[in-house]
Amino acid sequence: MTTKIPGAPTPFVDKEALRQRYREERDKRLRPDGSSQYLKVSGQLSHYLDDPYVPVAPRQPKRDHVTVAFIGGGFAGLVTAARLVDAGIRDVRVIDKGGDFGGTWYWNRYPGAQCDTASLVYMPLLEETGHMPSEKYAHAPEILEHCQRIGKQYGLYEHALFHTQVNELVWDDAQSRWNVRTNRGDVFTAQFVGIGTGILHVPKLPGIPGIESFAGHSFHTTRWDYAYTGGDPKGAPMEGLVDKRVAIIGTGATAVQCVPHLARACHKLYVFQRTPSSVDVRDNHPIDPDWFADIATEGWQQRWLENFAAYQTGVGGVRDLVMDGWTDVTTRVRDKLRQIPKADRTPETLQQAYEDADFEKMEQIRARVDAIVEDRDTAQKLKAWYRQFCKRPCFHDEYLQAFNTPGTQLVDTDGKGVERVTERGVVVAGIEYEVDCIIYASGFDTASRGVDRRGFEMVGKNGTTLSEYWAETMRSKHGTHVHGFPNAFFVQPAQGANLISNVPHNLVEAATTIAMILTHAREHGYRRVEVSRQAEDAWVELLRSAPPRTRMLEDCTPGYYNNEGQTGGAAWLLGAGYPKGAMAYFKYLQEWRSSGAFDGLEFR
Ligand code: NDP
Repeated sequence: MTTKIPGAPTPFVDKEALRQRYREERDKRLRPDGSSQYLKVSGQLSHYLDDPYVPVAPRQPKRDHVTVAFIGGGFAGLVTAARLVDAGIRDVRVIDKGGDFGGTWYWNRYPGAQCDTASLVYMPLLEETGHMPSEKYAHAPEILEHCQRIGKQYGLYEHALFHTQVNELVWDDAQSRWNVRTNRGDVFTAQFVGIGTGILHVPKLPGIPGIESFAGHSFHTTRWDYAYTGGDPKGAPMEGLVDKRVAIIGTGATAVQCVPHLARACHKLYVFQRTPSSVDVRDNHPIDPDWFADIATEGWQQRWLENFAAYQTGVGGVRDLVMDGWTDVTTRVRDKLRQIPKADRTPETLQQAYEDADFEKMEQIRARVDAIVEDRDTAQKLKAWYRQFCKRPCFHDEYLQAFNTPGTQLVDTDGKGVERVTERGVVVAGIEYEVDCIIYASGFDTASRGVDRRGFEMVGKNGTTLSEYWAETMRSKHGTHVHGFPNAFFVQPAQGANLISNVPHNLVEAATTIAMILTHAREHGYRRVEVSRQAEDAWVELLRSAPPRTRMLEDCTPGYYNNEGQTGGAAWLLGAGYPKGAMAYFKYLQEWRSSGAFDGLEFR
C-alpha cells in the first residue's frame, strides 16, 4: 500500500515494502548464538581492561565501620551520597573500580564523547552545585569535572575508595549490617549499602576469530589509549595517527561520536560496519549565560526534568523546554495519535499511528544520508533499515560528513560482521585490510546477569544469594528494595520509572527517596529496613500488568536492546517500568515517600 505521510520529505511511502525491507535486514543479522557471540574481556584479553588514565595508588586496607557503603562512583553513587550528606549522614563510602568519580564518564574519554541528552536535564545536581553547562550537549571532560565537583562539594573524597572492586557483600543478621570485602584487602562493615553499578560498564569484544593474533596495537573505546594516538579527551589533534592505518570496528553511538575525530587524524581510516546507526541532527550550541540566568530561577532543574520527561514519554505540556531529537520523536507520535478521532482509537489504529510516525522519521533520516554523503554507494550502506528505537538513536552533525573525508572508507559487511582478524589486519568478504591499529567500538556486556556483570555476590538473609533470588528474573519494589536483602538499595531505572532516555532523572528520584527512608529510620531509632515479600509480590504483579517493552522489540534488528534478537522469557521484567508511565511513577513515588508511611517497607 502506498500512503502519503504528511510532512515527510519523501511524499509517498510504500509501507509494506518498508516492512519487508526491515524484516529482511533483521533476518540476515539474527544469529543462533545471540549475546554469546561476544568475547568476555578476561584471561589473555584482560589487558583491555587496564586503566590508562590514573595510576593505582597504594593504600592500607580498611577495617572500620561506615553508615553507608555505596558501590559505584557514577551518577547513582554521587547523587545518592549527596542526598545522604544533605540528610546529615556524613560517612558515606563510595567504592569504585575507576580511579575517581564519574563512572561511565571516568572510563569513556574517547575523542568526541559527549552526552546525547541535553546537559540541563542530563547533568545531575546543577542547581545544587550552581554549575551552568557550557553547551546544550556537554562534552565528556566537562561531565567528568562535574562529577568531581559533586564529590568535592559534598565531601565524598574523604571516604571514597577508588581502584577498588567489591568482591562480596554479606548480611550479618545479628548485627543488622553488611560485611564488605574488596579486592584491595578491605574488610569493613556498613549499616546500609547502595548499589549503583550501571549497565554499561563491562566492555565486550566482538566474537571475531583471530582477535588475539593481531600484531599491531589495539584497544577498546572505553580505555582510549592517548599515549598511542596523541591528542586528549578535549579534542587536541591525535598526532600519533598521522601516519597510521586504523580500523574501527562497530558503528554504534560511541563510534558515531569518535569517527569524525579519527577521520581528521588518521592517514587511513577503515570503519567496519555490521549495522548502520540512525543518525539525526544534533544541533549543539553553547549555552548563553544571560539566557541561563533568566531560566535558572529556584527549582529550575526539577521543572526542566519534569518537562523533558513529560515530552519524552508523550504526555507533553504547555511548552517543550528542551526541544531536541528525543522530544521531537515523541511529540510526532503524540500528534499522530491525536489525529485519530477518539471513537476510532483502538490498539490497532494506535499501533498504526505509531508506525507511521516512525516511518516518517526514518525516511527523513535516510534522506539526510543522501543529502550529506557524496559517494552514492557509501550513502546507501549508511542507511538504517529498522524502527528508530530498535537501536540507540544517534544525533550527530559530523559523523556522516566524515565519510566525505579523503582517507576514510566505510567497509560494510552486509550484516555479517567482520570475518576474521589476522596478524596484519581485518578481513571482510575475503579481503584483508592491513592496519596498524584496531579500535573496538563494540559496546558493553548487558547480557550477563548477577556476579558476572555486577562483579560481586550479595549474600542476604539466611544465606540466600542475590543470584539465587534473581535466578529467574529481577524482583523488587520500585527497582530499589529487594526482599531478603535488608538495608540495601538498588539505584537504577528498571522496575521503577524506567525512563531510559534520561537515566539521571531516575537516579535523583531514587536518591531523594533513600535519604528520606534513612532519615525516617534514624529519627525512630530503627536499625533495619526491608521490603516485605507481600509488597514485593504486589509490585511485580503490577509490572506484569503492563505490555512488556520486549514485545515491541521482537521485530527489531538484533542489538543489546532486544538481547540480540532473543527476547521472551521471564527476563523481560528487567525492562519493565511502572505501567502508567514515568511521570505517573514520579508522582506516585513522591506521594509514597512524603506520606512517611513507606508502605511495604518494614522498619525494625
Ligand atoms: P553498541 O553495542 O551500541 O555498538 C557495538 C557495535 O559493534 C555495533 O555497531 C555492532 O554491530 C558492532 N559489532 C559487534 N560485533 C561486530 C562484528 N563481529 N563485526 C562488526 N561489527 C560488530 O556500543 P556503543 O559503545 O556504541 O554504545 C553502547 C551504549 O552506550 C549506547 O547504546 C548508549 O546507550 C551508550 N552511549 C551513550 C552515549 C551518549 O549518551 N552520549 C555515547 C555512546 C554510547 P550491530 O549493531 O550489528 O550489533
